[in-house]
Parts: sequence; structure tokens; C-alpha cells
Amino acid sequence: MGRNFEVPSEMVEPSLAAAGAVLTIDLGAIRENYRRLQARFGSARVAGVVKADGYGLGAARVAQALMAEGCDTFFVAHVCEGVSLRAALGKSPAIYILNGLPPGAEPEAAAAELTPVLNSIGQLAAWRSMARNLAMKLPAAVQVDSGMSRLGMAPSEVEAVAADPQAFDGIDLRLVMSHLACADEPGHQANEAQRLAFEALRASLPAVPAALDNSSGIFLGEPYRYDLARPGAALYGINPTPGLENPMLPVVRLEAKVIQTRTLEEGASVGYGHTFRVAGRLRAATISLGYADGWHRRGAAAAFLDGVRLPFIGRVSMDSIIIDVSALPESRLKEGDLVEVIGPSQTVDDVAMLTGTIGYEVLTSLGCRFHRRYLG
Ligand SMILES: *Cc1c(COP(=O)(O)O)cnc(C)c1O
Repeated sequence: MGRNFEVPSEMVEPSLAAAGAVLTIDLGAIRENYRRLQARFGSARVAGVVKADGYGLGAARVAQALMAEGCDTFFVAHVCEGVSLRAALGKSPAIYILNGLPPGAEPEAAAAELTPVLNSIGQLAAWRSMARNLAMKLPAAVQVDSGMSRLGMAPSEVEAVAADPQAFDGIDLRLVMSHLACADEPGHQANEAQRLAFEALRASLPAVPAALDNSSGIFLGEPYRYDLARPGAALYGINPTPGLENPMLPVVRLEAKVIQTRTLEEGASVGYGHTFRVAGRLRAATISLGYADGWHRRGAAAAFLDGVRLPFIGRVSMDSIIIDVSALPESRLKEGDLVEVIGPSQTVDDVAMLTGTIGYEVLTSLGCRFHRRYLG
């Protein structure tokens, strides 16, 4: 008879000793970033966008930290995300569903007291019938497409809604919103064009609070300041003003564990495909992080220890990466030590640049095998 082990049916969050890497999330920095955005946005309100599990950092933990700063409005993408967030946060905050209402999801959205962002006449009609069936008013936002061509009612749909006196029967319209496609390029002419289109479209809808800005939109200045902002990225430390100094505090630190060290002689080949060959002797370490943890396979990143750069050599594997640690004193590194791959020496935006993507994708790719530490 074998021993009786308790086997969890799902991956549980690993302990520090059992994990391959440690993800540290500074909730205090998220709160400070919220305060900085609020200061920029004047007397208008700032919501928190916590879709995709709070950009990979934990939607419930992030939202609770923001609530402690007075934030009472959250945005997620999916109804299922909204249902989980409602369970974590309780009744008080407003939870908007950016991706709208998929057919059939109306009862779940109503039961969790979510506020769908209605993106089409069909969604508006479905929510209206839900309200009629429940014999109650249901909250909603309407999104209009001001020029991104992604989500929201087209100008012709807005016109049809405006011409229908029964359009909002049973609906408590709380917000009219749109989304900017080029807010991270302040000089882009699309910004002004979208702002003017938004002005025109919302003028034919009921006079309710308006929201246009994501993180970068908050930095476009006074004309873009409506009643509510919807930042995500900037809360998590991603630079909302690319090319300028980052006005936000860093939030994330990712450290990978050294799982083996070795000395490689001249001519040794490293990793899958033998893409790296050792010229002269080098000391190498293998770290416990790979593309299965969301670390992008392409791109020439590095790890850091004591501010010393330790370049990746060879290909990124599924669960490991080999690094050149010759620049460190030999006694500095042993099995079990942690090296930084995201942090003060290499920011989320740096990693994005090095791996050919954006900070958003770096964060939302972060895997579930890390030991997580929350600060603040
Ligand atoms: C994701 C999203 C946001 C947040 O954008 P950031 O650039 O992360 O600030 C705001 N509004 C909508 C509609 C979104 O989809």
C-alpha cells in the first residue's frame, strides 16, 4: 500500500521553497499610482481597470487596495471576471463589463449586480428585456465607437437609439464611454478626431457622466478630462507616457531561482539547437523560469544580481533559462539564490522592449507557478 498523499485537484500557489520564481507585487505602489492619477485628473473620478486578473497581478487584491484609496468603480472585460470580483469585493463598488453582454449571460450579470457596457442595439434590447422580466431597473453603460472600430455602437446605431423614446426603458444609464486608439501618442491626430466624435455622439444620448481616458488619455490634458477615467496599465507601473520619464512607481518584481551552476569550457554548446557556443571559459547558471511562465522566448534579455548584468545565453526553454554569471565573484551565487528578471535593473517596459512586445503583454503573460508576495 502506498502512502496517502493529499493531491490538490488544481495547482495551488507554491511556497517559496517549492516555487521556481518569486513574484512580488507592491500594493502600496499601486495605491500611490492611483493617487498620482487622481491628482492629474483633478476633481473628476478615477476608476480601476482590473481585467485579466488585474493585469496578472491579482484582481481582488488590487481592487481591495484601490478601495482603500476611495476607488468605488472597477472595470473588467468579461462577465465571469465580474462575478468573481463581486464575490471578493461585496456589494458596494460598481463593476463594469467592458466586453459587453454575450447572449445568454444577462441573468448572471444581473444576479451579480454587474453593469454591462452595452456595445450594440442588440445588447441594449437584451438588457431591457432582462429588466422587464425582473421588473426592476438595471444599471448600464453605453459605449460608442468614436473611431477605433473595436467595440461600441456605430454612429448610425447611436442615431437609432436617440430616435427611440423607449430605448432606455428599465435601464439606469450611468455612463457613456468610448476608447482612444492612440492615446500613448499625444501628437497623433486621431486623438482629437476621436474626442470630437465622442462629443457629437454623446450629445444625442441622455446626459449622463462620460468617460474617454485610459492611462495615457489622462496625460492628454484638460480637453480630455471627462467625469471618469479608466486607467489600468499606469496603476501597475507601465509608463503611460512612452518616450518621457515614467511618472508612475514600479509595482512588480520577478526573481527566478538558480537551480544549477556550472563552469563551461571553451567550445561548449548551450541550450536547444546549440545556438550559443562558449568562447573562452565561462561560469553559467540555470534559472527556474521559462516560456511556460510567460517569459517570451524571443529577445535578448538578462538577469541581474547586485546590479550586475547576467546575460541569457542559448534559447529560453519551457521551464529554464541559462545565464552567464562570469561577471560575479565566484562565491556570490549558489543553488537556491534568486536573480532579478523584472525589477529596478530591468523594468516591465524594458522587458517588453527586449522581447518585442508591450508591458501589458509582459504582465498579463505572467504564469501561475510563482510564489507571490504582496507588499503594503
Ligand atoms: C483595457 C482598457 C482600459 C485600460 O487601458 P490602459 O491603457 O491599461 O490604461 C480602458 N478602457 C478600455 C475600454 C479598455 O479596454
